[in-house]
Amino acid sequence: MPPAPRYHSVIAETANRLLEEFAVRRYPVNVFDLAARMGIAIEHWPFANLLGGLLFDEDGPCIFYSSNVPVTRARFTVAHELGHFVLHRRQGIYFMCQENSKRLAERQANRFAAELLMPEDKVKQAYQKGQAAADMAVRFMVSLEAMLTRMTELDL
Ligand SMILES: [Zn+2]
Repeated sequence: MPPAPRYHSVIAETANRLLEEFAVRRYPVNVFDLAARMGIAIEHWPFANLLGGLLFDEDGPCIFYSSNVPVTRARFTVAHELGHFVLHRRQGIYFMCQENSKRLAERQANRFAAELLMPEDKVKQAYQKGQAAADMAVRFMVSLEAMLTRMTELDL
């Protein structure tokens, strides 16, 4: 596996700090509740070609996500938009997010989402208890694909 880009560890720290700040200790992480506690409104719409986005209007920040997807995908999208909010909100006034974008900000937001939903220590604990990948995906409420990717990253 090629070495992880340098920004990975900074983003992991940022995501872990957010979980600590909001005293999130239960898994799966309730990203909808976390966004609300951060003062971010959440809306969902039946988008066809958009996974979600983040915008700022006179009422403040708003995350929107596609309701046309499984709940695990919706959760990952909201976590991704929280990543934009935490990491990038000075750079632009809105984000529109699609699947498989190669832009750095999009990859960073995906990294943030993975760290937020599947923190390294928690995933390793579950793995060391002998949980199978499919059980861990259920426990962290992510897709099996997302969990398998995370486990590969963590050399599990
Ligand atoms: Zn994005």
